Amino acid sequence: MNTQRKKVLFFLLLLTSHFPFVYADAVPGGIARVLIDTDERPRAFYKDKLVLILGQAGNWEAVVGIDLAAEAGTHKLKIETPASSYYLNFEVQGKKYESQHITIKDKRKVNPGNLDMQRIARDQRDILEAKSSWTEQRQPSLELQLPLAGRLSSPFGLRRFFNNQARKPHSGIDIAAAAGTAIVAAGSGVVIATGNYFFNGNTVFIDHGQGMLSMYCHMQDFSIEVGDQLEQGEIIGWVGQTGRVTGPHLHFSVLLNQTMVDPALFLTLPGS
Ligand SMILES: [Zn+2]
Repeated sequence: MNTQRKKVLFFLLLLTSHFPFVYADAVPGGIARVLIDTDERPRAFYKDKLVLILGQAGNWEAVVGIDLAAEAGTHKLKIETPASSYYLNFEVQGKKYESQHITIKDKRKVNPGNLDMQRIARDQRDILEAKSSWTEQRQPSLELQLPLAGRLSSPFGLRRFFNNQARKPHSGIDIAAAAGTAIVAAGSGVVIATGNYFFNGNTVFIDHGQGMLSMYCHMQDFSIEVGDQLEQGEIIGWVGQTGRVTGPHLHFSVLLNQTMVDPALFLTLPGS
């Protein structure tokens, strides 16, 4: 690396060092942090979805969620200010995730029937609506807490096979714990949806602000309602085994710009 590039890199490090902690990892399922040098607060769009912006005048930062299915290479972020509109490029590196084979006894949860498919379509509409929630005024903290203490039984990104059939990759982390264990809000925010879904079971969505959401699945029961304002660490319900599961656990997902990214990027996991 030449001296000029070293200088630029050092300057970038200086610029980024006072932003709240999050491990930038521009890979599929990861996060890109893109600096935006404008005075007025910009809006940023990635694949037509609004993106979380942190910082202040002259020193903004877009925190971009990258889809698990994203291709490695150059990606574009659209920047809009009252005066202009332009693109910034960022690089996404490739990442290979492990495979996981799971045996599900309830075959309907792997090959649903016609009525199940109608319900799944309804579920997906509800889930899509929750995922597209946007609360402009709330500035989220990127530092989340683990929603319960327990064994990390399945990491993010695993390429999954249920009864030897390929299904969607694992879009969150699984934390195994006894049924009835309390689950807390990973960060402060507002409850935007609760539901009972075919695959996800009893599910809660919390909006932390500007498209940063967290999702909690397979719960036994809830202690909250839609519209509740939560502080980080407040109890939202209890571990169960509703939906497509092999045992009691919490499935925990984090979303940025409607995209599920690795929750570990926001957490200090035990032993890490
Ligand atoms: Zn899971």
